[in-house]
Order: sequence, then C-alpha cells, then structure tokens
Amino acid sequence: MAHYSFSAAAGPLPASVAATVAEACRDWQGSGSVLGLSFVSERFKALQAATETALRQCLGIPKDFHILFLSGGASTQFAAVPLNLMAGRIATYIDAGHWSRRARDEATRYGTVRTLPLAALASVRSESVNDNAYWHVTSNETANGLQLTEFPCLPAPLVADMTSDFLTRPLPFDRLALAYAGTQKSIGVPGLTVIIIRDDLLGRAAPATPRVLDYTVQAASHSRVNTPPVFAIFVLHAMLDWIATQGGIAAMAAIAQRRSAAVYQAVDGNPHLRASVPPAFRSQINPCFQLADPRKTPHFLAAALAAGLHDLHGHPDVGGIRISLYNGLSEAAFTALTEFLVAYTAPTTMNGTNTP
Ligand code: PMP
Repeated sequence: MAHYSFSAAAGPLPASVAATVAEACRDWQGSGSVLGLSFVSERFKALQAATETALRQCLGIPKDFHILFLSGGASTQFAAVPLNLMAGRIATYIDAGHWSRRARDEATRYGTVRTLPLAALASVRSESVNDNAYWHVTSNETANGLQLTEFPCLPAPLVADMTSDFLTRPLPFDRLALAYAGTQKSIGVPGLTVIIIRDDLLGRAAPATPRVLDYTVQAASHSRVNTPPVFAIFVLHAMLDWIATQGGIAAMAAIAQRRSAAVYQAVDGNPHLRASVPPAFRSQINPCFQLADPRKTPHFLAAALAAGLHDLHGHPDVGGIRISLYNGLSEAAFTALTEFLVAYTAPTTMNGTNTP
C-alpha cells in the first residue's frame, strides 16, 4: 500500500529531486560523492553561487539584498534577528500563534519587545511605530494553520519567519527587509537556513553577537565564516532547478492555492469535520481542522493510517488534524488525501477508538 506523509516538520522531495540527490550521494559529476564536498573547494563555491543566482531569479530578489546560507535552523534566527537588528531600540512582534511566540520569547532575552495581536496589523499607524527597530511576523503559523495573506507596509523594517511557506508564493521586496527560512519543509532537507537581508540592515549588530550569527560578518565572508551546510545547499539547488521546470514561483503558488482550496472544500463539505481558522487567515500550506466531535480524532487518524495517510495529527499545543502541503508533495498523495477527506465518516460510537 502507498505510504504518504503529511508531516509538518519536514516535507518530501519530489521524486526526480530525490533521484538526483541519491545519485550525487554516490557520485556527483564524476568527482566523487557530494557528501564529501569541501566547503572551501571551487566546486562548492560554484554550487553556492549557482544556488544564489537561481534563488534570485526565482523570487526576483533585488540587488540591494544579500543572501546568506547558514546552519542552525530558524530557531537560531530567533536570536540572530534581535542581536543584529535591535541596536538598543524596541521590536514589535505580531502574535499569530506558536512560532510567533517562540520568536518573541527569544527576542525578549536581548531587548525590549512589544507584542501585538495579528488583528492589530490592519490598523497600524505610522506614529505608533517610529520607535521600532523592526517588526516581526511569522508569515505562516505551522502549528496553528494561519497564514498572512498580505505583507503589511510598515515604516520600520519588516522581518518575516517564512520557514513553512518560503518558495510557495512570490515575495514583495518593497515591503520586506529580511526573510528567513529553514529549508526542511518546502525546499529541501534540514540543516540550512536561508536569510535574505536588505543591505541597509547590515552593520547594526550588538557587540556581543557571535561572529557566526553576525549577518555583516557572514555577508562579507559569503556565508563561509564557518562550514556551511554543503549537502543541504546542494539539495536546495536541485529544488530550485525543479521549481524552474515546473514554471517557477507562480506555479508553486498556483499549486498551493489549488490544493489548499480543495482541502478546505472537502473539510467544509464534510459534516464530521470543522475548519478551525477563519477563512481570511486559512493557511495554504498547513490547513488545520478539528473533528466535529473531538473525541473522534483517534478514529480519524486510524482510518487515515489504514488508507496510507501518515502524520496527520495536529501540533501537540493545538490538537485536531493538520495537513502539510509542502512543495514536494506528490499529486498522488494529494489526491489520496482529498478523496479520504470527502469520504470520511465518523463512527456513531462515542469512544471514537474503534478501528475503521
Ligand atoms: N518557525 C516556523 C514557522 C516553523 O514552522 C519552525 C519549525 N517547525 C521553526 C520556526 C523552527 O525551525 P527549526 O526547528 O528548524 O529551528
């Protein structure tokens, strides 16, 4: 039977990318395994440069932005962002859920932080934000299934954690000053964090900032102050190639739009299921919903497993069901999922644990 994972933690690679990567692990271009590629070699430097060029083309990243390829995951950026940008001023964090709070809580270790609810974004007035070093948003709340459909236009630099929706939609670089994303969900494997930073934000780091986290130092050293995650950069390059062959970022956005619309339609049309996020904020990448009777959640998950659909449980803080529609998800997995959602019937018994 087919085995499809909808895990929120890590996304699948498209089959052709997985094949390219597997082959390169054996041998890459006749020069041995990519797993042994030295970060100081000319071959790696050429790979890194090609990856940067492909990313710039994919998103239309302007010349006055640097791209950094660092290790440490998005959680490391929760510290790096305030260390690099606060410069003794306050920072405002928009609270949309679990990951916004994780980012905010880390920032409070380095300076004064103000928290605003997501709903406040719509009514921000410039006079209330002039004192801000930056604003921080989580563009897609992986745990809660909430997505910021539009990036706000703010008078202070806007910073976005895009770990779960990077390269699933175009980005407005006239509004964004810094975007960061771990690559393990929609664009590759764990170990790499991409940071896109406008040049005028460089040069502000607090004196105690570790050199490996200092954007200015890393930008000057082409992200090679220490060993960058070579293999994850290789996979990102392969993913960017694949995205280009699919039709670029517009195609990724269209796929996310189509798939999420079908999922929400199936959920809204099934009396046993309840979407838990208001339509204006529904994520195109991590749709979340509940069972109409939450006691039936174990039954839903067992029935899904029996149909080959894995990792559909909600985030531990949220519960319910969560579907992850990352770029690499196959059409076969998506079709099996939507067919299951349309057909799902909860049992009439109350314990909800009987096997399907
Ligand atoms: N931000 C968001 C939106 C996430 O979804 C995650 C991981 N699920 C993180 C940050 C943390 O990423 P990491 O564990 O790679 O540090």
